[in-house]
Amino acid sequence: MTDKKLRVVIVGAGFAGLTAAIECQLRGMQAILVEAYPGPTSHGDLLDFTENAGRIFKSWDNGRVGRAIFESGVTAAKTMQFYNQENVLLRVDAWPHGDQVYAGHRGTMHRIVFDYAVEVGVEMRCGKRVLQYLDTEDECGVTIDGGDKILGDVLIAADGPRSLARSQLLKLPEGRVNSGYAIFRAYFEVSDSFKSNPALEELAKEDEDVVRFWVGRDMHGFIYTWNKGRDCAWVLTHLDDANIGESWSFPGKKEDVHSYLTQAGFPNVWHEIVELTPESRLIDYKLVWRDPLKTWVTSSKRGVVIGDAAHCHLPTSAQGACMAVEDAATIAICLQKSNGNVPLALQVFERIRFNRSHTIHQASIFTRNIYHKNDWSLETVQQNPDSLVMPLMDWILDFDAKKTAEDNFEQLASDVKSGREGSIEELALPAGGDYNAMNISATDQFISSTGRDHHVQLSSVAAATQALPLKI
Ligand SMILES: Cc1cc2nc3c(=O)[nH]c(=O)nc-3n(C[C@H](O)[C@H](O)[C@H](O)COP(=O)(O)OP(=O)(O)OC[C@H]3O[C@@H](n4cnc5c(N)ncnc54)[C@H](O)[C@@H]3O)c2cc1C
Repeated sequence: MTDKKLRVVIVGAGFAGLTAAIECQLRGMQAILVEAYPGPTSHGDLLDFTENAGRIFKSWDNGRVGRAIFESGVTAAKTMQFYNQENVLLRVDAWPHGDQVYAGHRGTMHRIVFDYAVEVGVEMRCGKRVLQYLDTEDECGVTIDGGDKILGDVLIAADGPRSLARSQLLKLPEGRVNSGYAIFRAYFEVSDSFKSNPALEELAKEDEDVVRFWVGRDMHGFIYTWNKGRDCAWVLTHLDDANIGESWSFPGKKEDVHSYLTQAGFPNVWHEIVELTPESRLIDYKLVWRDPLKTWVTSSKRGVVIGDAAHCHLPTSAQGACMAVEDAATIAICLQKSNGNVPLALQVFERIRFNRSHTIHQASIFTRNIYHKNDWSLETVQQNPDSLVMPLMDWILDFDAKKTAEDNFEQLASDVKSGREGSIEELALPAGGDYNAMNISATDQFISSTGRDHHVQLSSVAAATQALPLKI
């Protein structure tokens, strides 16, 4: 680092922005974090961090932050159970134990990370909405509501799926398409009527956290309970024929959930849990798809988008928040190692992250279609034991983002400096498979062409996903 502290302006205090701010601050930079909300949000329901992101949280303050996140969520699950719409148990997997796998309430985890950012000295500008991104020769930063400017040496936009930075910094048109699905989500405290309901008693155990997954035609859902059976969250992906808005707070209606459940033939346990969910805690969230961006770095090479702003995953990747956290740790290391050469840092960052993140981003469509376009019976699963799995392969979980950045920075920096030619897909570090650009309509065409009644043949999917490093 040079003597003068690098001023890093970060927009968005989601997990991407917070992690970037913490990692920059811990590496001797001055992070200024601008967030539209007035403070940490209790919003959100279920969020999972697998070990590829968990090891980043665990690295903070000798494991204290990771331990706090872990203890706030699922600590006592033994298994994850997979059921079909007739409530037939199809598969039982061991729940991944370890002190760097976290699952629980998003809002609680968010507060822990937010508080740590404050503790390490990140300059927080909460309750300030960015109206204009500034990326000129003279100015690198933002204008917030009220007209004040916040300027720095580098600008990291972690402003989420509806990113303003994508249009203002990268000059991209809004590229969202309806994925065809939406997701009901809920988080609430388990009531006495829940505990005494015979259909639900297995779900609220004092001595064991419960993680269950159901899959059927055009629908899949999870129910989690933890904290000695006191906390419950469920999510249910359903067809989006009502064309709901892309917002985190669109209220859901119980009658709608019941109607989708009935249409998909989901079992009674789901109707019962919906009945006992406070309606004020139920939201219906549209799942939109955005094709991979060609680049995340601005033309000045002093600004960049990361996290959901760069690659907004469908929940079926089970990796959106993890990729955001990996991006954030990587960019801090690149900024540190570049000794103040911001354009070099951002280009190396992009080369490290691009292939891995987009491969996982695209795999989320396949996984969704595998879940939704098959008739799941015990025989199907017995004949294809690996067909019904969470799409979490070793190459995703074993990845150490910080080590990867540390180990590869110099070589990639020399490639950038020498102007080594090639597409970003070729130059980015391999994710364990080839980058294979694919958009949602191409994927859906593939799905429609694979058989009668839009069934996805498991063997065809296996062949097609070889391009992606998905092993099914
Ligand atoms: C309120 C909320 C609840 C969520 N709940 C869940 C959940 O329950 N389960 C799940 O799997 N995922 C949830 N997510 C998404 C998940 O956390 C993200 O996919 C993932 O962590 C990626 O994080 P990110 O930091 O890239 O983006 P985000 O988490 O979306 O964070 C972006 C941040 O930028 C801020 N921002 C946006 N525009 C501006 C602006 N112009 N000026 C200032 N600030 C701005 C937003 O307020 C937000 O805090 C939620 C996200 C949010 C914002």
